[in-house]
Amino acid sequence: MSNELSERKSQEGYEWQITEKLKETHDAFTYTLLPVTSSQRFELCIGQFVTISALLKRPTASGDFEENVVNRAFSIASSPTRDYIELTIKAEKPYGYINPATGKADAFAAYFNEQFKIGDKIRLKLNPTKEHFLSKVGAGIEKKVAYWSGANGAQSARCLIQHMEDKKDPELSLVLFYSNSKLSINDTNGKDLKNDWYHPNESLNVIYYNWLIDIAKKLENFKVIFTFTREQDIPSTSPDNLRVTFRKGRFFLNPDGSPERTLSKYSGNVETVFNPICGGSGFINGIVRLPNGKIVKGKGIMQNLMEIEGVKPQKMDKEQYYLQQVGANH
Ligand SMILES: Cc1cc2nc3c(=O)[nH]c(=O)nc-3n(C[C@H](O)[C@H](O)[C@H](O)COP(=O)(O)OP(=O)(O)OC[C@H]3O[C@@H](n4cnc5c(N)ncnc54)[C@H](O)[C@@H]3O)c2cc1C
Repeated sequence: MSNELSERKSQEGYEWQITEKLKETHDAFTYTLLPVTSSQRFELCIGQFVTISALLKRPTASGDFEENVVNRAFSIASSPTRDYIELTIKAEKPYGYINPATGKADAFAAYFNEQFKIGDKIRLKLNPTKEHFLSKVGAGIEKKVAYWSGANGAQSARCLIQHMEDKKDPELSLVLFYSNSKLSINDTNGKDLKNDWYHPNESLNVIYYNWLIDIAKKLENFKVIFTFTREQDIPSTSPDNLRVTFRKGRFFLNPDGSPERTLSKYSGNVETVFNPICGGSGFINGIVRLPNGKIVKGKGIMQNLMEIEGVKPQKMDKEQYYLQQVGANH
């Protein structure tokens, strides 16, 4: 494709079609997309994101419904080496949430996940920024990666894992630090996702959980460290899969409340490791919005990496999905 044509296309967007829809958790789905024609295909890199435009039917405070085109950004969750694109879309705002200021629903994900099905077409725009998230990994500048993910944030790690599967570069390694509140939740609609390890009648709450455990068995250069911040009981590490570790509580905190050198403990040489961080603002850098609208700054993975482990800013990267609201459901 000529530069001019590709420039025009990237501004107009591309039309892709949903060919698979997989329920990951009670509030997240992974969509597999293929271009509607070969001219709609585009080049992409590890860590890039697309913006989706979708016509959604959403409720208002008066009980009516309104249809609007709504846009949101989504990280590409599949490797550029594959023919398709995968996107995992997790609802943060619950279905039916009405913005008190406008009297209208202003969420995207809950309605997209309800209304979009296999065969539907969607418009995508690729974010054109050159120094995007994980671009140093994509360019081969960084090869030892410690990826820090909040409950919604592992999408680009999945993209990187698929890339590792396909490229088999022996120098490229990944430790995924993945933080979730709980492994399972009570969800009567989610019986199909029942996790046989845990309590019956509960459904899985961790995106890609089983996939990550399986891939850790196969991929030597990949380890995953799950932490559960609100779980009393956690699974134990299986002797036949030592590349999967389970821990309790926040990263960088020991059970007695003293600081933990989490990166050094699980990932070896801190100086050479590159640390991409992805999720809500609270997870990345401790910034949250209070119910009265005030912004409060605390500490997130970024500050902990610098203060506890001495990691240099050039050895970090971040992708913020949203500004975290205190009192919201995560
Ligand atoms: C570069 C980039 C890449 C992204 N990639 C992905 C991705 O791959 N997958 C993905 O799922 N998301 C991704 N996101 C976020 C995505 O764009 C949506 O924000 C997300 O899917 C949540 O959508 P939503 O419609 O539920 O909420 P939105 O309308 O987008 O609002 C999110 C906001 O709602 C707040 N909120 C949460 N719960 C409540 C509540 N109970 N009441 C009020 N407010 C609440 C959150 O704190 C947050 O500030 C990405 C964002 C960016 C910027």
